[in-house]
Amino acid sequence: MRLVLLGPPGAGKGTQAALLSEKLNVPHISTGDLFRANIGEGTPLGVEAKQYIDAGKLVPTDVTARMVKSRLAEADAAQGFLLDGFPRTVEQAEILKTLLEENSQQLDGVLNFKVSEDVVVERMLARGRADDNEETIRTRLAVYRDETSPLIDHYGEKIINVEAEGTVEEINARALNSLGK
Ligand code: ADP
Repeated sequence: MRLVLLGPPGAGKGTQAALLSEKLNVPHISTGDLFRANIGEGTPLGVEAKQYIDAGKLVPTDVTARMVKSRLAEADAAQGFLLDGFPRTVEQAEILKTLLEENSQQLDGVLNFKVSEDVVVERMLARGRADDNEETIRTRLAVYRDETSPLIDHYGEKIINVEAEGTVEEINARALNSLGK
């Protein structure tokens, strides 16, 4: 299965992706996790990405797309994937489409995690990651509204809505149910 996970920052996509990845037996590919690993290792890509991430801004698309392309080329992604954090703009969605088409592949669906802004702010402040201070949270929510949420219309009938408020188990059950599992 080839799925994209969509939702505002703090929607709990990462948590749900980890659970779904086990059930569906496909790798969870998170651009945020890939960036953080690169930052941890001090790679040139990590050094470049860090300034944007710390400011709550999007890392430039060419940098991000290169990283995603090489990750999708790894053997474990051949049979499917859960893509978490990419695409984040319509431009990135077009790049993903082209990448998949090169391998005669397409997305099976786009899980859209729906959650109110109050809840996401609460969740982000609670997890306390380095980029989770009030100012960057505000910036990231604005980036989501302006650049990422248009993907809901862009993907149209590929969108599978999941109500993402409640316990981790409840949301996981809803996500699986919406996938017919
Ligand atoms: P969250 O779940 O809070 O959105 P992520 O771990 O998905 O956090 O992303 C953290 C940061 O990594 C983003 O704020 C952004 O700076 C950068 N990032 C992640 N994915 C992308 C992407 N597709 N394009 C550009 N920047 C990205």
